[in-house]
Amino acid sequence: MNFVLLAVLTCSVAFASLGRIDEQVYIKGHNKDLIKLIESQPALTMDHMDLNGFELYGPKGTIEWLNSIGVSYKVPHNHKEFLRGYPSFSKIQSDLKQLASNYPKIAKLFSIGKSVQGRDLWVMKISDNVDTDEMEPEFKYISSMHGDEITGRELTQFLIRDILESYGKDEKITALVNNTEIYIMVSMNPDGSELRQRANANDYDLNRNFPNWTAGEENGTRGRQPETIAVMNFQKKRNFSLSANFHGGAVCVNYPWDSSYKRHPYNDLLIKLSLVYADLNPQMRNSTEFDRGITNGADWYVLKGGMQDWSYIWHNDMQVTVELSDRKWPRYSKIPGFYKKNKASMLAYMEKIHAGAGFYFADKSLKGEVQILDSSNKDLGTFNFVRGQFYKVLDNGTYDFIVTTSNGKVKEFTSIVNDSIKTNGNYKKL
Ligand SMILES: [Zn+2]
Repeated sequence: MNFVLLAVLTCSVAFASLGRIDEQVYIKGHNKDLIKLIESQPALTMDHMDLNGFELYGPKGTIEWLNSIGVSYKVPHNHKEFLRGYPSFSKIQSDLKQLASNYPKIAKLFSIGKSVQGRDLWVMKISDNVDTDEMEPEFKYISSMHGDEITGRELTQFLIRDILESYGKDEKITALVNNTEIYIMVSMNPDGSELRQRANANDYDLNRNFPNWTAGEENGTRGRQPETIAVMNFQKKRNFSLSANFHGGAVCVNYPWDSSYKRHPYNDLLIKLSLVYADLNPQMRNSTEFDRGITNGADWYVLKGGMQDWSYIWHNDMQVTVELSDRKWPRYSKIPGFYKKNKASMLAYMEKIHAGAGFYFADKSLKGEVQILDSSNKDLGTFNFVRGQFYKVLDNGTYDFIVTTSNGKVKEFTSIVNDSIKTNGNYKKL
């Protein structure tokens, strides 16, 4: 390998251009030395790796570099022929608006910002008393931050419609809506989807554009892409404790960390949560590529600046990445079938937000710290809280919470966590 040229490529890539996609190729095979080499290059990202090969994305010069070190590759052709039948952005937007106006008591549509090309970044909130910010656990789904990974954008629209139409008819869905604040963003990268590309309209990979904790970055928005900034600001205002983001190009659930080989402090719980999703999806469960349809992120391939690690590190929000379909852009006629395969998983995973516990103060300006201990007094970590409230998804069991407010008050209580949907969540009023 030509390490001199490699150094030139790496050095020429300033921080601001990390995650830039000017060139993309598919590299066949599973050459471990090459994969290691690519992983060590911050400017390059791989995706959807299996034994057959992987996708490689990078700035200008990536292909030249591959040529110089004698790596062969394929330049993927674009998939415009698979577009027929898919709704346009404006159709999706008007459908969402229509749904919100058909179900005004439980659905509320709002924009959290604009994409590079000025498209609204819509989020649908679904809950009872939807206009009130109730003390209920907060759940979120975000899809298609990679614009060409389209399946999730369609499935989340199906899911929204299904939940709204089932409210008052299906007992479980009704209970979920009554006792949870559900937020669904069908498209984080509408420009990318309109352009039929992975990156946003500035050619940045949004799933490499979040603060990278392994590099000691701060949780700041400066220099990031508008879509990333919108999600960061949105999350900062809310109290999400469980989420998932939908991708395509494989079929599995991928859990944190993506950016470190270290195990997450709640590794066992993350595996259980991933299995809640994968076990109910026959194609995932029976995967020949991923054991029981799930994988640790870094074990698959290392990814820095992704959304799922960021959401837990800075916001105590457990997030997994769900890869929905091997084809990123399947024929539209296949979409109802994909929804059928994923509906039970999507709902069961949402319900898991009720396996948790938390507290709130009447004073919404209070902040501080909370330490959590399990029944054998094992320390499960200390977490910050703001806005006088805290909630954490936990494994079933009994937990002690020791809450210290920034004005020096200490409160202790015990909570029992189990799987059932609880009235407005398992909160203790302090
Ligand atoms: Zn993706």
